[in-house]
Amino acid sequence: MNTRQSPLSRQITNLSIVFALALIAAVGFLGWWAASRIDDRSIARQARAVQTGLADIAARIPVEQNSSAIWDDAVLNLRSGNAPWIEENLTVWMSDYFGHDEVYILDSANEVTHAAHDGAASDPAAYETVRDVITPLVTTLRDAMAVASADESDSTASVTGLGVEDIVALPGGEPAIISLRPIVPSSDAVQQSPGSEFVHVSIREINDKVAEEISKKYAIDGIGYSQFDAADGDKVASPILNNNGRIIGFFTWVPDEPAYALIRETAPALAVALAFSALAAALLLGRLRRTSAMLEHSRAEASYLAFHDALTGVPNRALFEDRLEQALAHMRRSGAMVALHYLDLDRFKHVNDTLGHPVGDELIKAVAQRLSACVSDVDTVARIGGDEFAIIQVGLADTSLALSLAQTVVEVIGAPFELSGHEIRVGASVGVVATSDAASTGEELMRQADIALYSAKGDGRGRYHLFVDQMDENVRDQRGLEMDLRSALANEEGLGLVYQPIYNTLSSTIVGAEALVRWDHPTRGRLSPATFIRLAEDRGLIDQLGTWVLTTACSFAAGTSLPWVAVNVSPLQFRDEHYADRVFEVLEQTGLPARRLELEITEGLLLQNSPLVQSTLNRLRARGIRVALDDFGTGYSSISYLRTYGVDKLKIDQSFTSAIGKDQEIQGIVRSIIELGRAMHMLVTAEGVETTEQQRILASMGCDQLQGYLLSKPVSADALTETLASNAASPPTANLQPASRFTA
Ligand code: C2E
Ligand code: MG
Ligand code: MG
Repeated sequence: MNTRQSPLSRQITNLSIVFALALIAAVGFLGWWAASRIDDRSIARQARAVQTGLADIAARIPVEQNSSAIWDDAVLNLRSGNAPWIEENLTVWMSDYFGHDEVYILDSANEVTHAAHDGAASDPAAYETVRDVITPLVTTLRDAMAVASADESDSTASVTGLGVEDIVALPGGEPAIISLRPIVPSSDAVQQSPGSEFVHVSIREINDKVAEEISKKYAIDGIGYSQFDAADGDKVASPILNNNGRIIGFFTWVPDEPAYALIRETAPALAVALAFSALAAALLLGRLRRTSAMLEHSRAEASYLAFHDALTGVPNRALFEDRLEQALAHMRRSGAMVALHYLDLDRFKHVNDTLGHPVGDELIKAVAQRLSACVSDVDTVARIGGDEFAIIQVGLADTSLALSLAQTVVEVIGAPFELSGHEIRVGASVGVVATSDAASTGEELMRQADIALYSAKGDGRGRYHLFVDQMDENVRDQRGLEMDLRSALANEEGLGLVYQPIYNTLSSTIVGAEALVRWDHPTRGRLSPATFIRLAEDRGLIDQLGTWVLTTACSFAAGTSLPWVAVNVSPLQFRDEHYADRVFEVLEQTGLPARRLELEITEGLLLQNSPLVQSTLNRLRARGIRVALDDFGTGYSSISYLRTYGVDKLKIDQSFTSAIGKDQEIQGIVRSIIELGRAMHMLVTAEGVETTEQQRILASMGCDQLQGYLLSKPVSADALTETLASNAASPPTANLQPASRFTA
């Protein structure tokens, strides 16, 4: 098969690949886009959670401070400087219990009175390190308290609930939530004059502990603090802002990206699925490609077969007709001559019948090869029928080139073929027509080539004939003759038989007579069988004519003392499987006994080697009808045929008889035929005896019977009857003279 990719399959492949890639790209992009969207949202949600977590912690600190800072005891103990109580309830306790990293108590002058650090009392001097960042907040709170408690003697009610919180960067850079609350009484039992309030300061550093708390609460892994934006690599960052919106630092964490996680998890499975899909697609594509290639191949093959002969591979009739039209178009343009050759193998049927169809096919192939080798590249060899070929020859300067190709064809096809161990000899008859006439049509040329072929075959085969206008006239002529013969047969008018007596060589008595058909044509006069038997065979009239001859001859013989009558039979009559029955019917009808009928067949009939011929001959002979082999020696029959078929008589052809006394070689052949006949228990008749020398020599050779002008020309039925009657009365005389209507 053609491995080159055909355009259709290539198109399908390319289209499929482009489509698949586009699909993969689209799905991939869509997947990536959706995953990004999902993950972006997830990150945004995490950032919100981180901020909320921080805000929660920041919001909790003042509430925790207020649990101790709004309390009568706190105010009283601060005023009295009860350090253990203060540590236990305001500083150390606050730091220890709520985890405030640093706790300071500021007096009304904003000086530290007590401090705690990491759950233990600490040196108030530590405040100095944070004073700068806390002082602005203290000022803000004191201002707010002053405003709230202006014109009041007791500030308790107006400052309770006030406070300041912010996120600041400590001197070390780390961020912290700072919350300031005034320490105020919880009841009217204690008075608090404006400006005298203590302030509780809690510092909660935003450190890993805070991060961990947020991590736990919102299930966000690995939150860390970074002073600078550390959204590098896998991490994302969320800024920590103070009240003024200034960035103090960043929370960073490796975000939870569910979509990417999902993709990562399912990636191996997806990859495997994709690989399988790709494999399946590739297989499918391959299959598709092969199918489409096959389809294309069979389409090409079908179109090749539509225009080429399957057996030989040469153009068939359809392509031939097309090429002929092209050749004629070219001729009209260029003025160069075109020739058309029709050829027909001469003995193809015989090869088929004797060696079988496979050998016949081989022969046809070999013929096509030889023909193709004879012509030039621009010419066309076509097979237009069983054993019929045509050649279109183009660009000819003159007719002689066409004739020389025809001659070559006759020669190359006439040369023996070596096929399946057989040496086969067939011949070719060729009809040629050549033209440079712009008005010529393909149809016309085909008709003319056919006529020329017919003419070549009629002229003895193994030759070529060039079409000449005369042939057209002959065809018309033959057509007219055919019509006439039809009406002659239909009306039984003009047809008649003459009888040529056949003599016993030794006694010169008439032993039988051969019926020979004559036709008195209304305008052409008397026609010999040579002019119309072939016509009757070609135009399907031979059965009718043959039956008429047989019936006429038998009914004549039945009414005379003629020992037997011989009737010529065309090989075509044997195609009728009921031929023997027809003969029997005629015998019955005319009352002629079978042994008084002799049928003359030709060697060609035996060569057909057909079971039908054999059975017909057997049936005829079984009835007692004799079979004579006419024109013996001119055909190809072999002794084996004679043995197979069984023949009663050989009739030596007149071409041999006429050579007797002149040609020693042929005379030798005649002698051999006579000896062969004797050896095979067949009678031998010599036809066409014209001289006494021939008669003498044939007699000396032991030929049984003689027939010829020397003894008698064909005579009319009446003349023969008369002769038979006079012969019965007196000794026989040779050279009967024609007596009535039907004479030779
Ligand atoms: P054939 O059967 O070989 O007949 C002998 C032919 O030789 C006859 O020619 C006859 O007139 C001719 N002939 C006889 N003696 C001589 C002679 O001494 N010298 C010469 N030169 N010729 C002689 P005819 O009648 O023209 O017939 C020609 C052929 O036509 C016959 O050859 C036979 O094959 C065929 N034919 C004749 N009648 C019929 C018929 O009724 N049916 C068929 N199928 N073929 C027939
Ligand atoms: Mg004959
Ligand atoms: Mg003959």
